[in-house]
Formats: sequence, C-alpha cells, structure tokens
Amino acid sequence: MLPKGEEEGPNSLAAAFEHELSMSSRAMHADDYINNHKAVAPPIHVSTTFRYDSDPDKLEHGLNNDPQAPHDSHIYSRYTAPNYTRLEALLTSLLKGPSLTYTSGLAAFHALLVFLNPSRIAIGQGYHGCRGVIGLLQKFKPIEQLTLSESDLRKLRPGDVLHVETPFNPTGEACDLSYYRKIASEQGAWLTCDATFAPPPLQDPFVQGVDVVMHSGTKYIGGHSDILCGVLSIRPDLERENDWITKLRGERAYLGSVLGNLEGWLGVRSVRTLELRVERQSRSAEELISWLSASKDERGSVVGQLVADVMHASLQPEAKDENSWLRKQMPGGYGSVFAMVMKDESLARRLPSMLHLFHHATSVGGVESLVEWRALADSSVDRRLLRVNVGVEAVEDLKADLLQAFTSLMSEGKD
Ligand SMILES: *Cc1c(COP(=O)(O)O)cnc(C)c1O
Repeated sequence: MLPKGEEEGPNSLAAAFEHELSMSSRAMHADDYINNHKAVAPPIHVSTTFRYDSDPDKLEHGLNNDPQAPHDSHIYSRYTAPNYTRLEALLTSLLKGPSLTYTSGLAAFHALLVFLNPSRIAIGQGYHGCRGVIGLLQKFKPIEQLTLSESDLRKLRPGDVLHVETPFNPTGEACDLSYYRKIASEQGAWLTCDATFAPPPLQDPFVQGVDVVMHSGTKYIGGHSDILCGVLSIRPDLERENDWITKLRGERAYLGSVLGNLEGWLGVRSVRTLELRVERQSRSAEELISWLSASKDERGSVVGQLVADVMHASLQPEAKDENSWLRKQMPGGYGSVFAMVMKDESLARRLPSMLHLFHHATSVGGVESLVEWRALADSSVDRRLLRVNVGVEAVEDLKADLLQAFTSLMSEGKD
C-alpha cells in the first residue's frame, strides 16, 4: 500500500495542482495530511503508547496498525509513532518511493539484508561499516561476499544482492548505476544503492532502476550533525507489486531499530531545508574543487607543493560530456564531499589542526564544514587522504581558510 501523500485522491497535494510540486514545496507540505493540530510547527510526541478506540464495536486485533488510516493514529511506538511517521511522509515524497526510517544508516542496511536474506552480496569499497554488518550476518549463515568486478557479478544468483554506493566513500566519485542495473537484472539479483552522498536534488537512483535506495540520514537528511538516522526507500512499481513497506515495517517492529521521537522531530525540521542546504554545499564544493585542482597543476603554487591529487565526481571525465551517464545520473550536481590526497602522510596528519572553519571530525553532509584524516576512521584507505565535507559557510571564507592553512604548513616545513 502506498502512503497517503503519494495516493491520487481529491484531497491529495497532487490533485490540487496541475503540475508536480517542486522539491522545496513538497519538503514543506508533503506531511500536511498528517497535521490535525492548528500548530504550524510540528509537536514532539514522547508517548510510547496510544489510546485504543473508545467505540467497543471498533476494537479488533490490528486496529490502528496502519499509520495512514486513520491519519496519525498509533498503538505502540515500536510499531509506528507520530514524529518518525511524519518524517517518513516527507521522505516518501522527496525520495520518490515509499520510505521507512531506522535508528542509523547501518541499522537500515541491517534491516535490508535481514529482509532480502541473500546468499551472496556483491559490494564495492565504499563505507567500511556496511561490510561490518555483513560480517555480523555471517554469524548466522554463510554469505559469500563478492566484489563489483564483472567476473564476480556473474556469480550472483536470483535473490542475491548487488549493493552499489554512489557517490562512494571517501572520494565522492560516482559509478554508473545503469551498468549495475543491467547485470543485476541478467543475474536476477536485487540492486540496492547507498545514496547517502547524493540525496535529492542531486540524483534519483530510481530513474536508473535501483530496487531499494538506502541513506544514512545522519548525513545530509539530518544535516546538522545532531541525529543518527537511516532510511530505506522502495522503487514505487516494486512496492505496488510486493507491498515491501508493510513487510519491512513488520520486521522493524522485531528488530526494534525505530527512530526516537526527538530524532523524528529533528528530521522533519532538517528535511524542510534539504534542497537549500544540498544545493549550496554542492555548489561551494565544486568551486573549491575546481580551484584546488587547477592550482595543483600550477608550477610553484602552494597547493601544487602540498596536494598530490583531488578526487570528486565533478572531476571525472564524464562530467564534461553532456550525454554521459554521469550527467544523466547526477543532474543536480555532485555533492559536498571530496578527497584531497596530500604529498605525504605527515601533511595529511597536520593540515586539519591548521584550519579554522573546517572542524577535524568524521561524518559528512552537515551544514558545518569538516575535514578528516581518513586513516583515523578507516584503516583501508590511503594514509595521505583527507576527506572534506563542504558546509554552508561562504565559499570565499572556506577558500581563504584552506589557503592560510596551506601557507602555514609550508612555513612550518621550513623551520
Ligand atoms: C555514514 C554512512 C553510513 C552509516 O550510517 P550511520 O548513520 O552512521 O549508521 C553508511 N553509508 C555511508 C555512505 C555513510 O556515509
């Protein structure tokens, strides 16, 4: 069953306009149908339990078990609860597929694998934690872990999972989802995508035919470095045939990984400005990246003396070709996360402390600019690599901050 916001009905948002509302309008209004109260800002509900109907004739097992009917009624917050249901209504509209939330990105990935229960998973490098989740499930049954090489992908069988992270961690480079869609279909495998690094309006993996889109909502969707959150969204036509959301919600009630009330409320607050934040961050990142990559090649420049390489989807050769898969897949821009490989490990270790506007911390997608010597979080990456998240500060200030840090690093080396 599709959630109410997505249904065609006389009172639906879709019916009120002749055109599809823009992303920002949907971010403000896709949850209006849940809103019974006169308050414009959503309330925080802390209750874990909800009154049954006062009409004895309506009492039966499963009453209120559907959070959509009647609107905003619930039984127990491990099944559904007002704040995260409201966030799910918004995400369903913005991600363009019925969506559920979880306590974290990894909790969402765990729920996805428990649900699909594959015997083989093909997975690329990407976020190390996802491979940790597979490791946990291997305690219960053998799951063969495959790479994304063509020969490995040919080992996938019906019901297996092909999991692609794009853009991927830690470089912010993208890979071609339609290529993986083709192979997944040929092998009968499910195609799942970790789209954390490029939420809307940057990309919509359902256009390339992905079956399930996953997000760490901790990143851009939360956007303010103050909630852990995970999201699963199902491709609408798959949902219509299979009713996966009801099944996933049922399994979530036993996994227990439901989003907290405050997190759900903060998530609604955050999603209102998703488009504003993501567009600004992505634009600023592209500006910094094109400056860094151009000055890296200038003889004698500070950047050139310290930085060996800059990586980001905007620097992939396909970004220049209007008809490329990359431009089709990421029509809204390439995201705020990129990697800077320094000339040596010691430069990567020391640069973060010299920056004033970039906090030295892990995570991405938030409004705060961050830099991270990635070796601290993931022992498998190049020890010269710094991962950068561009926040919403003015881009001139961020550029000045990088430049002063490079200059300090140069003069430190001369002492
Ligand atoms: C952070 C992250 C995760 C894990 O999300 P949590 O919310 O920290 O559990 C998964 N995938 C990617 C790409 C991430 O950046």
